[in-house]
Amino acid sequence: MRRPLIAGNWKMNLNHLEAIAVTQKLAYSLEERDFDAVDVAIFPPFTDLRSVQTLVDGDRLRISYGAQDVSPEKSGAFTGDISASMLKKLDCTYVIVGHSERRAIHGESDELLNRKLRAVLNSEMHPIFCIGEALEIRESGQHVSYVVDQLRNGLKGLHKPDLKKIIFAYEPVWAIGTGKTATPEDAQEVCAAIRKELIKIGSEEISQNARILYGGSVKSANIVEIMKQADVDGALVGGASLEPEEFARICKFHRVI
Ligand code: PEP
Repeated sequence: MRRPLIAGNWKMNLNHLEAIAVTQKLAYSLEERDFDAVDVAIFPPFTDLRSVQTLVDGDRLRISYGAQDVSPEKSGAFTGDISASMLKKLDCTYVIVGHSERRAIHGESDELLNRKLRAVLNSEMHPIFCIGEALEIRESGQHVSYVVDQLRNGLKGLHKPDLKKIIFAYEPVWAIGTGKTATPEDAQEVCAAIRKELIKIGSEEISQNARILYGGSVKSANIVEIMKQADVDGALVGGASLEPEEFARICKFHRVI
């Protein structure tokens, strides 16, 4: 059985004081039975991470956290960048790698993302590796092969013990922040293709145990149908994760399935 993961990507929103308030509200909106059933994680901006760490540790919250990006480099003259070892020191469990906004706005290539995956894995954290197609590719009907190529390129040369630690997120670019959600069947089609490809890249065991999330305008109104899909193991949530009550409602999907 794969344990569901609901991950909230705050993007460039909420300062460190707001982060404390939102994290507290989220924790108090959820019950032990929710944390027993679902892994809940938040991805604040870098400047919030220390405050979130202090709160999570101090109040023993069952919420994990991670970073939205990382440098592929270990240390040195890379102004503005943050290394994986710095994130590990803040007790980050996860790091998002290859979010479509990083690919599009910062021109991050598959080669760079492969190096970022390695940096996260070398620091013993779990990458959440995002892949997904733009609207033109979806409309041309090439979305499955496009996403499978992104997967193969990103994972090039990684060994099986590392592949086991990666979480995957299928995020169709046309559904991110647009209010357009892929249908549950669209999400299932691509998540199943990712799982199938993981047999070839890794093994049957790696494929069966891999957690594959869907992301793109997830909200409490659509999470249940998405989570009913056989190959969807959770969600990467953007906008709706900024509202702690709404994010908590998403995390409670398991109560009705
Ligand atoms: C995201 O940023 O990963 C995302 C899925 O955003 P939204 O939920 O706002 O579409």
